[in-house]
Amino acid sequence: MAGDRNSKYGFAITSLVVVVLLFLLIADFAAISSLRKLLESEAYRNAEEEISLVEASIKEPILRRDYAMVEQFLMEWSKQHHHIVGVKAIAPNGFILFDYSRKLTSAHTFQVKRYVKYGGTTLSILEAAYDLSAFDERIGRLTIGLIAGSVILASFFGVVLWYVLRKTAMIPLEREVAERKKAEEEIAKYAAELEESNRIKDLFTDIMRHDLINPAGVIRGCAEILYERENDDDKKEIIELIRNNSQQFIEMIENASMYSRLNYITDIDRDLLDLGGMLKEIIHNFEFDMMEKNMGINFERKKVYAMNANKMIHDVFSNLISNAIKYSPDKSMVEVKISEENENWLVSVKDSGEGIREEDKEKIFERFERVTSTSIKGTGLGLAIAKRIVALHEGRIWVEANPEGGSMFCVSLPKKGAA
Ligand code: ADP
Repeated sequence: MAGDRNSKYGFAITSLVVVVLLFLLIADFAAISSLRKLLESEAYRNAEEEISLVEASIKEPILRRDYAMVEQFLMEWSKQHHHIVGVKAIAPNGFILFDYSRKLTSAHTFQVKRYVKYGGTTLSILEAAYDLSAFDERIGRLTIGLIAGSVILASFFGVVLWYVLRKTAMIPLEREVAERKKAEEEIAKYAAELEESNRIKDLFTDIMRHDLINPAGVIRGCAEILYERENDDDKKEIIELIRNNSQQFIEMIENASMYSRLNYITDIDRDLLDLGGMLKEIIHNFEFDMMEKNMGINFERKKVYAMNANKMIHDVFSNLISNAIKYSPDKSMVEVKISEENENWLVSVKDSGEGIREEDKEKIFERFERVTSTSIKGTGLGLAIAKRIVALHEGRIWVEANPEGGSMFCVSLPKKGAA
């Protein structure tokens, strides 16, 4: 990732350097072109001055018709000036008085032409060709120097920019990237540990579900047989203790594995069922327990309470009714009611037990909160399981105080399309 950013910055800086270089080169060529124009006009002016002097010098010999003198002067003058590549002096009648030419070293020349006059009469036409190759060389050298200077300047700019950027932005960025990488590694390590502990938890749940429940069932079965066969009351009492505790043990295993399974489920299958019929059946299942405590349950099934739900919902009400019986005094009444609330069925289970303290009203639905509260008696997972099942049905479960004493557990469940 840091390499990626480095190359991104490298690309940006290179692009910038190229742009700066192009800009400098354009400036170089503009400067060279105006310098060339300046030098050319300077050379032209000098040539004009020179030719004026020559004109003045040859005027008199021409008037005297001393053409030998003219020729001699022009020859010397031509040889003395290396930048002159050709000189011609032509009489008005076309007669060539002087003609000199040197082999050209460059194609870049310019010509100066002058009419040598006396009192309005043209005595001769003087032409001189000037060589600009030295001048070209100078311009060429200057061009190379400027280009090299521009390349050095742009590269220097790039290096400085890279250095400044590294100092101000990239080093903190690299540090940030390194820190993020470290954090990612720690997360990956933590995820691996979590996966391992989940695997162990799954293994443990599996052992509970399959390997512990069978021997516990055998213990319970044997205790039942022994209980039936035993006549000694003291022994019978001990056997009953074994039977009840092994039953509790089995229930705890079943609840724990169900709770663990429910935590994985996110979606449920639904079937059309009658909530009233289900509650009637559950109440019927608890008849023996109620008889033992001399208790009664009030429930009026007025109609069909249809809803689309999973059969697991049975466990929710089974737990609420079981608790209501368990935590109520003998000879008391439990009241179960279904009412309609928009698209939901609202089921309430009211008992006249000792009720639930305000600060425990949330905790009783959370298995892991239980340890801190001394007022919560049980060790089971019933309400935590109920809460999870209700949540899977997109419903709500809560507890309120029964105004006549005791508690009232409420469950609101969407009918989910059932009429
Ligand atoms: P268990 O009943 O097996 O302990 P639950 O999860 O069903 O497990 O209940 C959690 C706790 O909530 C119980 O231990 C009890 O303290 C309290 N509780 C549940 N129902 C009632 C009730 N009807 N009246 C009073 N307390 C209750």
